Amino acid sequence: MSDLTLESISLDTIVNLVKERDPDQTEFQQAVQEVMESVVPFVKENEKYHRSGLLERLIEPERMVMFRVPWEDDDGKYQVNRGYRVQFNSALGPYKGGLRFHPSVNLSIIKFLAFEQTFKNSLTGLPLGGGKGGSDFNPWEKSDGEIMRFCQSFMNELFRYVSSDTDVPAGDIGVGEREVGYMFGQYKRLTAEFTGVLTGKGLAYGGSKVRMQATGYGLLYFAEEMLKQKNDSIEGKTVVISGSGNVAQFACKKSIELGAKVITLSDSGGYIVDDEGIDEEKFEYIKKLKNEKRGRIKEYAEKYDCEFREGKPWGVDCDVALPCATQNEIEREDAQSLCKNDVLCVAEGANMPCTDEAVKVFHDAGVLYGPGKASNAGGVAVSGLEMTQNAKRLSWSFEDVDEKLVEIMKTIHEKCVEHGKNGNSINYVDGANIAGFIKVADAMIAQGHV
Ligand code: NDP
Repeated sequence: MSDLTLESISLDTIVNLVKERDPDQTEFQQAVQEVMESVVPFVKENEKYHRSGLLERLIEPERMVMFRVPWEDDDGKYQVNRGYRVQFNSALGPYKGGLRFHPSVNLSIIKFLAFEQTFKNSLTGLPLGGGKGGSDFNPWEKSDGEIMRFCQSFMNELFRYVSSDTDVPAGDIGVGEREVGYMFGQYKRLTAEFTGVLTGKGLAYGGSKVRMQATGYGLLYFAEEMLKQKNDSIEGKTVVISGSGNVAQFACKKSIELGAKVITLSDSGGYIVDDEGIDEEKFEYIKKLKNEKRGRIKEYAEKYDCEFREGKPWGVDCDVALPCATQNEIEREDAQSLCKNDVLCVAEGANMPCTDEAVKVFHDAGVLYGPGKASNAGGVAVSGLEMTQNAKRLSWSFEDVDEKLVEIMKTIHEKCVEHGKNGNSINYVDGANIAGFIKVADAMIAQGHV
């Protein structure tokens, strides 16, 4: 790749570089396209960012590791999965980003997540670089022993590349407190060190209060700021949420606390519609069903006698939509259904849940649209606070951490407004991308050609 000149910098040249190098990595191409649509026009107007191969360096990970993860199942048979860690950018601090265990995981997905993470972490204002990892391991219907053996084997290789000062992974889809615990235990055994090498740990051994709630709570703090732009609030609104995992659960809980009515949750089998709204008691049932029994959302419909439908919940009438399951879960037609039902605000709990076409539909319709790298940054922000507590050997109270989370989400919102204001409206995509880019780019330039 050669140094781009001012004349040759364009969205097409950047995206084509990625397509030529990695023609099959469609999710990564999509993420680069989405960021560069905002960043390239900004770079063209700001001379200092033309040089040093900045954009070419920004789209290439600093390091990627792929490794074999052999493990023994309960029948004594050997299974082999593939493990990944993409260390995308360390300009602002140690690589930081979650681990995803899901059969769909491949290099394209981990690269897109690590790339997005770089800008998200920059937005938090904390000293965090961007990374992501995972495996194509399917945790569904595995016994606890199988999960533990897999996590230990995964860490047997990963431990060479991570430490509390170089790369600090956390959870993501399929990786919660249990899996983090097994990996932490194995790291400790391999290195004979008790350090904050992972975040999302249990409270008994260095985890931070609010980490479990952080992404979902942060999403609602951000959505509330968005609605304030229209002199409105979440109170009294009807909310549709997809997913029923960590992010969806705590988005649901905070919505209830703020006086909204949540009527859907989903999983890959389908979604429930509870017109009466999910209340605190029903929420506790969902948490147990999903986290302890590892059950399906369909069981909620049977227990509370409400509707269960196959597919995605975006045709359900609502004021606020919170996609909290996975990438590309809102396509153009889904966005059109939401707009037909006069949705006011769409804030992403998941990473890249809306396709480019869906985002365009929201923008054209004047819907408040918050991209994940801003609206779901609460999780990594509290992970950053967990790292600080671990380094200081301190444990802050729930109220202290929650207060810091509120402040961080407000500040991210302000940055989006500062860089995304467009007449009377705010383009949160431009705002988040440009604000995230500036800090990373300035640090990269200051650190020279590395
Ligand atoms: P969980 O594994 O706890 O939950 C994921 C949920 O999404 C489950 O209900 C799952 O259903 C559903 N889901 C996953 N894949 C699909 C699919 N292909 N189609 C339909 N439903 C699907 O993960 P999290 O809640 O932690 O993560 C959800 C999203 O939020 C991800 O995009 C993640 O990257 C993002 N995120 C998470 C953060 C965190 O702190 N955990 C931080 C920032 C972003 P099923 O059980 O049937 O598979």
